[in-house]
Formats: sequence, structure tokens, C-alpha cells
Amino acid sequence: SELWQNVPLAPPDSIFKLTAAYKADTYDKKVNLGVGAYRDDNDKPWVLPVVRKAEEIILNTPALDHEYLPITGLPEFTVAAAKLILGPDSRAIAEGRVTTVQTISGTGANHLGALFLSRFYSWTGNKEVYLSDPTWANHPAIFNNVGINPLYYPYYDPKTIGLNFDGFLSSLKSAPSGSVFLIHACAHNPTGVDPTREQWGKIAEIMLEKGHYGFFDCAYQGFASGDLDNDAWAVRFFVEKGVNMLVCQSFAKNAGLYGERVGALHIVSPSKEAAERVKSQLSVLQRSEISNPPTYGARIVTLILNDPALFEEWKRDISTMAGRIINMRKELHKILTEELHTPGNWDHIVNQIGMFSFTGINPEQSKALTEKAHIYLTTNGRISMTGLNHNNIRYFATSLDAAVR
Ligand code: PLP
Repeated sequence: SELWQNVPLAPPDSIFKLTAAYKADTYDKKVNLGVGAYRDDNDKPWVLPVVRKAEEIILNTPALDHEYLPITGLPEFTVAAAKLILGPDSRAIAEGRVTTVQTISGTGANHLGALFLSRFYSWTGNKEVYLSDPTWANHPAIFNNVGINPLYYPYYDPKTIGLNFDGFLSSLKSAPSGSVFLIHACAHNPTGVDPTREQWGKIAEIMLEKGHYGFFDCAYQGFASGDLDNDAWAVRFFVEKGVNMLVCQSFAKNAGLYGERVGALHIVSPSKEAAERVKSQLSVLQRSEISNPPTYGARIVTLILNDPALFEEWKRDISTMAGRIINMRKELHKILTEELHTPGNWDHIVNQIGMFSFTGINPEQSKALTEKAHIYLTTNGRISMTGLNHNNIRYFATSLDAAVR
């Protein structure tokens, strides 16, 4: 028989399929709301001015060569990245309890974290992880790849278009002690729905009581509220409370370095001695997977994080991006409620946070938007706020209004 005869044809990735359909559409008012990357008010990718500056510095530093990085990454990068997410005054860092490894962006951090848990976590029963329902489509795939079975905890409530807090809590309570929970640190993808600080407090309390492990995924620090510290609040709070946890960090969105694959995995251990053993094993795993992480993006981020002037400039660039998204939320909300008097409550558009918004529309309405108005979005009703701008927001709002009437 022919080789690969038994290889089934896999379906194309749904987001990439959406982009291809959008590109093939010749309608001049077409809108792409599937995109997971920032677009400026002219619908163009945006290279952060601070990134351009850092690139120029790199280009003008002849001493920089193309040698391999250490297995765990550029040391100046990993140290600064840990401080960025855990806080400059983090006790865990001061006590030497944090192991940081540079990874292939957030996806690589999720993978390495999952692989490490698969090998070394003190599993009592089956290898299982609780994911939020819904979650980033890659999460179940990443855990399946390393033999960890994905289960789901209630998260989104379609009735309120908000958090199903009671469902989340009862899942935390009923899961066997020592379960692994994947938690979106901020700007939940795909819903845009985050717990309040009070709710985070309750979640942490139960996680501690039950000895659950927190697998925090932080892909949008700064991108959510526009403030790096604010968006890291939950992570820092859980570390301070002593929840056993790790954090996956990505610089794709907040530094606009999507293709450069800059990220880190931070594992917080109970002691310095444990952190050292963890580091030794992460090095072994990383070596067999990628040998050493890539230099270019890590150098850019290192410059930005370690130079006070560049760091301040980065914060301004971040608030430019977050601010534009927040403005689009306000404007969309205003057109729907004040001008069009669209049926239903649209407050969730302004209450949700980050790149994405769950509109609450059903798959038929979402399909109608694509077929009738050439507006491309995932059938779950998720829209990427960054696909909206001053040129298309009114067109989108009137099309949405028509779709729900
Ligand atoms: N985690 C979540 C929840 C995401 O939404 C994303 C990107 O969309 C990532 C992780 C990882 O992205 P990257 O690998 O580009 O850093």
C-alpha cells in the first residue's frame, strides 16, 4: 500500500481559513473581525515606535553576533521578563523561587509548561487539566500533545454575556484536590470577560484550600487595560497568596512582536532549592525540543525592559493600542444603543476587556453578517475589536443591528 495512506486529511485552522476567505472577497466594504493581531485606525499592522528604536540600537551594535543563546534563554531577558509579570518587588523572585525559561512566544510557554507538568507534576489520578469553557482553541491541542486530557470548567454565561462565577467556583470545589486549572491572567480569549478583584480573591481562596495548581496564561499584559501592572494584578495576587502556579508570558501582542516569537515560562516553586531542580529539568526538556531559543526578539524586549526611557516609551505605545480598542468599544456601544436603538442590552461591549469581544450573537446571525455584509468573524460571535476603526465601525454597527432584528 502507498505510504501515508492512513493519514487523514485534517481540516484547515478555522482562523486562518477565515482570513483566506476575507482576502478572497472583493467587496470594498469587507471587514475582518477574526484577526488576532493589532491593527491601527487604518487597518494596518503597527510596528511600535519603541521597537523600531530598539532595532536601530541592535543594528548599530557590531559586537552583537549570531551565537547560540543559553538553553534557558538570554539571561537579561529572563530576569527582566519575570519582574515585568511578577512585579519588581516580588517576594518569590527575591527568595529565588522563580525559574524562568525563554520560550517560543506564549504558545511555546504553554507547551513547555504542559510538558513539564506531564512529566513531573504529582498526579494522583489521570493526567487532566481544567480549561475554561470556552478557551483559546490551541489550549486543548497543546495539552493533548503531551498526554494531558482537557476537561472544562464553566466560565462564560450566555444569558448574562458575562462570567458564570458560581459555575466556576463549584467546579473548583468539586474537582479532586491538586487539580490543574488553566486560568487566563487577563483579557480572556475569546470572551473578553475577566473576574473582578473580589472574585479573584474567592478563586484564590478555594484554590489554596483544595491545593489546586494554577496554570496561568498571560498573553495580553498591558493590552487589556493599557496598564502593565493592572493587567498583572491577578498573577501577582495568586503568587503572593502562595498558590502553586506557573505563568506563560507572551510579548506577541503587547510589543507587537508576533512573528519574532518572544515569550517566557515562569514556574514559581515553594523553595529556592526546588526552583533549581525545576530549572535543571526544564533545561533538559528545552534542549531536546528547540536546543536554544531565538535571539532577535529577545534582544529587542531586553533593551525595552532594561532602559528606563525605552520602558516609558513602551508604556505609551501600549496605551495607544489599548486606548484605541477601548475607544472602539465605547463608540460601538454608543452607536448601537443611542443611535440605532438596537434591540437587547449591549453593555457587555464596554464591560469586556482586551482584544476580543463576545457579542452574544448566535451562529446564524454571525453567518448572516458574513454572507450579507461581508463581515468575517468566528461563528461563536467573537469579534476582534482591533478590526474596527473609524472607517468601518458605522458599517459594522448597522450590519449588526440588521442581523439581530
Ligand atoms: N494564549 C492565549 C490565550 C492567546 O490568545 C494567545 C494568542 O492568541 C497565546 C496564548 C499565544 O500567542 P503567541 O504564541 O503568539 O505568543
